Amino acid sequence: MNYRHHFHAGNFADVVKHVLLLGLFESLARKDTPYCYIDTHAGCGLYDLGAGAAQKTLEFKSGLSRVKEADKAQAPAWVTRYLESVAALGREREGFWYPGSPWLALHSMRPQDRAQLMELHPDDAGTLKKFMSRNSNVSIHMRDAYEGLTALIPPKEKRGLVLIDPPYEEERDDYAPVVELLARAHAKWPTGMYAIWFPIKDHHAITRFYRRLRNTFIPKILATELCVLPPDNQLGLNGTGMILVNPPWHFDNEVRKLFTWLTPVLSDHKQACWKVEWLNTENVSNPADKKKDDNE
Ligand code: SAM
Repeated sequence: MNYRHHFHAGNFADVVKHVLLLGLFESLARKDTPYCYIDTHAGCGLYDLGAGAAQKTLEFKSGLSRVKEADKAQAPAWVTRYLESVAALGREREGFWYPGSPWLALHSMRPQDRAQLMELHPDDAGTLKKFMSRNSNVSIHMRDAYEGLTALIPPKEKRGLVLIDPPYEEERDDYAPVVELLARAHAKWPTGMYAIWFPIKDHHAITRFYRRLRNTFIPKILATELCVLPPDNQLGLNGTGMILVNPPWHFDNEVRKLFTWLTPVLSDHKQACWKVEWLNTENVSNPADKKKDDNE
């Protein structure tokens, strides 16, 4: 496990992921009944952008800084909420800090809600405990997400959100382990909401990923992509994606509005683009196609 999120905190991919996450929390809070938030790859909870790792890459300049500097007159409400969250953390801690998904969850949850956070890296799990464990409605597990998730679901609340946010060290190529994890989790908890982050580097890998997702026959899968560079650029991270299973009603339209505003804020490239599409299973009704996908 070489991946450390400190180097990437607040970059454009974090911005998109965290704004969408806040949109999901907003919709969960529309009902008074409690929900459970499960973060399979939680990281440290918050990140010091003034410290070595973040200062070395300065990746937050491609994300958080651009949103902070943008003209916010037409900004969607989720973006306002995101910037308010960053500002709230700034009031809580001295210096230049960035909220990770666990911190955003905690600050969105009501007293009746609960969070289960998993993190496998011992150092990051330790930091996460230091930052988050004073909250009695949060449980932290130093545990492998690939065996831990199915042990924690379905939660007693019977409603909630699972964020699956792996580093894509072992999941690269066609992200098959992530699809398998989703399929196992969905079989145990079909009504849960799932948000899966994925990097957009190679356009062909994404096509295979979507085909695998379709082949799970899970209904209601929404694929969202925002690319700051042309999707087939060979140099690195071209875009950021989020798969949403069982998203809230009309969430697709809200994401379209968000991406219309956010894409030109996060990129000056003329080929920057976004896509929001429902994946369905109609295209894989022929078992021969399924066999072909599995062998790819
Ligand atoms: N979700 C966090 C956020 O938005 O603030 C960022 C998480 S970061 C992209 C991925 C994290 O997963 C890293 O901290 C890494 O140590 C952890 N990790 C890697 N493999 C894991 C596994 N199999 N189970 C649980 N955590 C893992």
